[in-house]
Amino acid sequence: MRVRPWTPKSTAPRPVLPHDRSTPVPSSGDALERSAELIHRYLPDVRRIGGRGQVTFTINQIASDVFRITTQAARSKVQKWEQTGLIAQIGALPNPGSRPMYLYGAVDPRLAIAMLRTASPEEVVGNFVLFCPQCEQLVISDRRSISCRHCSHEFDLSGAESLLEACSVRSAS
Ligand SMILES: [Zn+2]
Repeated sequence: MRVRPWTPKSTAPRPVLPHDRSTPVPSSGDALERSAELIHRYLPDVRRIGGRGQVTFTINQIASDVFRITTQAARSKVQKWEQTGLIAQIGALPNPGSRPMYLYGAVDPRLAIAMLRTASPEEVVGNFVLFCPQCEQLVISDRRSISCRHCSHEFDLSGAESLLEACSVRSAS
């Protein structure tokens, strides 16, 4: 199979509002309301993770550092959060000698803002809500090295445009 070399897209003119249709929110108002209702129930727990300045986490980490519960109990919490559609498995961390550890995180900017209580909404969308340089979908991460959950492209935090930057460019033009 021929693999096309990846070329940076920065030389091409940016289309106007290219991301509007790709924002990962449920398409129907009903689904959105249901997500909001569900996540409301879990928000106190999820905000305990955000209180540590994080929007991504592993099951082991929240079991031992955040909730001090068994990994099985933590896994069951995460499964409930995933049902809201606002938290998902977003990647895996290398775990030498063992199975990779799955990384979970907020996949909706509104949840990221709700989680990170000590940061302003502007700080959250300026630092944690990024566009994948390859597929231009929204990726939410607090990691330096990021793997896009949509296209698996790996990129460094510093090489990605934030939602805040994208909005500023548009409002200035
Ligand atoms: Zn991508």
